[in-house]
This record gives sequence, structure tokens and C-alpha cells, in this order.
Amino acid sequence: MIILDGKKTSEKILSIVKSRVAELDITPHLVVILVGDNEASKIYVKNKKLAAEKVGIKSTIIELPSDIKEQALLDRIVKLNEDDNVTGILVQLPLPEHIDKNKVIQTISPKKDVDGFTPENVGKLAIGIEPYFYPATPQGIMMLLDEYGIEVEGKDAVVIGRSNIVGKPMAQMLLRRNATVTTCHSYSQDLEDKIKTADIVVSAVGKKIVRCKMIRNNSVVVDVGIFKLPNGKLTGDVDFDVVSPSCGFISPVPGGVGPMTIASLMFNASKVYR
Ligand code: NAP
Repeated sequence: MIILDGKKTSEKILSIVKSRVAELDITPHLVVILVGDNEASKIYVKNKKLAAEKVGIKSTIIELPSDIKEQALLDRIVKLNEDDNVTGILVQLPLPEHIDKNKVIQTISPKKDVDGFTPENVGKLAIGIEPYFYPATPQGIMMLLDEYGIEVEGKDAVVIGRSNIVGKPMAQMLLRRNATVTTCHSYSQDLEDKIKTADIVVSAVGKKIVRCKMIRNNSVVVDVGIFKLPNGKLTGDVDFDVVSPSCGFISPVPGGVGPMTIASLMFNASKVYR
């Protein structure tokens, strides 16, 4: 069994991004919008800023109050779209309930949409045209698989979870690389049987869902889930100790997909479209 070391791989990616940024004729500038005071969001945003600084990307955090009017937020994004000194825009999710997340995402210019969430970028991915940006987490997972020389073409892949952020784009990216993809969700029947057939399992649920008897020998298991146990310890969707001995490759939590997501986001933030 080989551990898919996201920490080590992310450092490699970040150093490539740093060299790439140094060669650009402008300094990329990522603007992160944080609405309200969700504690977890604050930490994510701070980590993104630190990662940007590490690779020479300028970053600005715009903090807005939780009661900001939807239109005021949209106007702010339009201004950033028009600002030639801003090359990337990211709106940290979740947003307060009175704000329509989809309207916000649709307002971001696809050429500055470093999260790859706008309809243009999502649509391009779906129809097989190169988007300006791929969503960070699935792109980071593909980078991790590539780093370990894991062949995707012709393989049976099961993606558990169908969120717009992870599950759906993950399935699209695997499909694009010629895997045969099954997407599972909370209504899926016989999940165990489906997982057992998979060469590659990507679990993005946020609950302990993948256990030993479900895994085919020597399969590749990528654990996207991250949540806290009652004792405060961070864990993933996969019962690592029990599952890992029968895997060919497995990503740990923490130290797997998490750091790859940040590195992949920085890879996106280093892209400049004019
Ligand atoms: P999400 O929007 O809550 O989606 C969870 C998905 O899991 C949904 O599609 C849901 O199905 C499905 N699901 C729930 N219970 C299930 C069950 N019993 N069997 C099969 N599928 C089930 O979450 P997300 O944003 O995709 O994130 C998923 C996890 O990944 C979370 O733990 C999150 O913190 C983590 N995450 C980590 C990173 C990272 O960088 N490491 C990045 C993003 C997310 P329905 O659609 O039917 O409800």
C-alpha cells in the first residue's frame, strides 16, 4: 500500500507555481471576498492568503458584514471584474442565507473565476472545451494521481458525493480522462456493491462511509471528506486503519487532498487572462 502524500506533492506543485509566477510580466492578484464571520471560513481564507504569499501572488481579503445586501455584493464583484489589477476573484462559501450563492457565482468573470464555479467554466468542462479554470479540489486530486503515475484511462471509478464543488466536477474530470465513472449520492442503492467494483474510489461525503469490506484489493482510494470527531480530531470519510491494508494507494486525512486543494488553487491563481 502506498500513501498518496498530498503534503509532499503540494509542496512540489507550489514550487512550480512559484517559478511560473516569477516568470510572468505581472504579479497575479487574487482577491478573496469573505462575507460574515464564519470561523471556519476565516481560517480557510487566511490559509489561502498565506499560500499566495508563499508563491509570490498578491492577495487581498475583502471582509464584508454578514448583513450586506445581495446587490451591494454583486456590485463589488462587478467592480473587481473591471479592475485590470485584479486577476483572480474568489468568494468564500458559504454565504449568509439572504444571499443567492448562484447569483454571486454567475457574476464573477469566468476569466477571473479561480474556483472554476461559473456556468461558463463548468459548462466548458462538461462539453470538453478547456475551461479557464478547473475546480481546485478535483484538479488537485488529478495532480495527485498523476504524481503517483496512476493510470485513469479505462478504469472503473466511483465518486461518492455529487456537490458542485467536488463530486460533479470530479466525475467530469475522470470521464474526460476516459475512466468509466459512477457517481453515488444519498439516494444511491447498494453503495457497497458499487464501491467493490471500483479501481478508483473518490469519497466526498463528510461522513465515515468507506469501510474495509467495500474495497476491491489494490484499488486507489482518495478521501476528500474532512470533519471533526466528537473528540475534536480531524478525520475523513474512509476508515483508514481498516481500509488501507487492502488498498494499492490511499490518501490520508489530514495530509492528502487538503494540501492539494490549496496548491491547485494557487496554480489557478497564477493563471492570468487579459
Ligand atoms: P456536500 O455538498 O455536503 O455533499 C456531500 C455529498 O455526499 C452529497 O452529494 C450527498 O448526497 C452525499 N451523501 C451524503 N450521505 C451519503 C450517503 N450515505 N451515501 C452516499 N452519498 C452520500 O459536501 P462537499 O462540499 O462536496 O464536501 C464533502 C466533504 O469533503 C466534506 O467533508 C468537506 O469538508 C470535504 N471537502 C474537503 C476538501 C479538501 O480540500 N480536503 C474540499 C472540499 C470539500 P445528496 O446530494 O443526495 O445529498
